[in-house]
Amino acid sequence: QAKADGKNTARLYDPAMHAAVTARRQLEVDLSNAVLFKQFEVFYQPQIDLEAGTVSGFEALARWRHSGRGMISPTEFIPMCEENGLIEELGAQILEVACKDAMAWPACVTVSVNLSPVQFKSGNLPTIVKDVLEKIGFPGSRLELEITESAIFDRSSGIISQLSEIRKLGIRVSLDDFGTGYSSLSHIRSFPFDRIKIDQSFVRELGADAESLAIVRAVVGLCENLGIQSTAEGVETHKQLDVLQHEQCRSVQGYLFSEPVTMSETMKIISEFNTDPPKQISIRRRAA
Ligand code: C2E
Ligand code: MG
Ligand code: MG
Ligand code: MG
Repeated sequence: QAKADGKNTARLYDPAMHAAVTARRQLEVDLSNAVLFKQFEVFYQPQIDLEAGTVSGFEALARWRHSGRGMISPTEFIPMCEENGLIEELGAQILEVACKDAMAWPACVTVSVNLSPVQFKSGNLPTIVKDVLEKIGFPGSRLELEITESAIFDRSSGIISQLSEIRKLGIRVSLDDFGTGYSSLSHIRSFPFDRIKIDQSFVRELGADAESLAIVRAVVGLCENLGIQSTAEGVETHKQLDVLQHEQCRSVQGYLFSEPVTMSETMKIISEFNTDPPKQISIRRRAA
């Protein structure tokens, strides 16, 4: 490569860079093996319905326990899977595990699974989702799929028509990380979402910053007027919860209630929260 650029180009050999490239390649190999051998774990974070005071569902969050590096964040391995053509397979695996796990919960408890925009590229997503539901015997009405605004932004992938097909299976679709993308309002107009998830960056400043309160209030009102659900993400403090309850936000997720937990932990959370009458929400639980 350096030769082709001519004599004046110095061949740069940087051992640190070389090591970084080697490590990255190794991680990519490990990742494709992990997909091949289905080595991903799924953790679940409860979603609390503020009106009912119960756990209405859990969000499935992918985890990769790497033998040498420990737990690797989805913010690291999801983009790698997207780049390396692994996301369609990984997405199907996560969906299958999540639906299988959710079978053990009461019928009123839903599961939300995150989708990558890249999963819409092949056009096969509606079929993949339908096949997983049929294989497991899981009702579409208990499944919710989350997509971020950036996905909707890419109109070329036929995303809207695929989402419509998916919705015909009784599956609900929610708009994740709302407020962080572009032209948010036109996205809402172009597709009938069932839920908007207010990004945690707005929730974080609640009680501290008037603008964030104004935005949260506006989004909750928008959801009310559209007749859809609103969920606040990243609720960490009682102060934030107080504000959200006052603003009549429908549901919340966050470390205040629970971090994402293992499947066996979900059963404990359900029996703890979903009592009759519902237990007052004040529990703080921290785990992996
Ligand atoms: P997300 O879908 O917006 O998920 C929320 C993220 O916020 C999760 O991070 C969750 O652990 C974290 N979180 C929850 N409550 C709190 C809180 O109170 N405070 C703070 N600071 N954070 C909180 P996680 O699990 O690391 O996932 C990060 C992102 O990776 C997700 O954001 C989602 O976009 C993506 N992701 C995770 N699992 C999957 C998956 O199976 N497929 C795809 N395509 N993406 C996934
Ligand atoms: Mg999400
Ligand atoms: Mg989010
Ligand atoms: Mg996010």
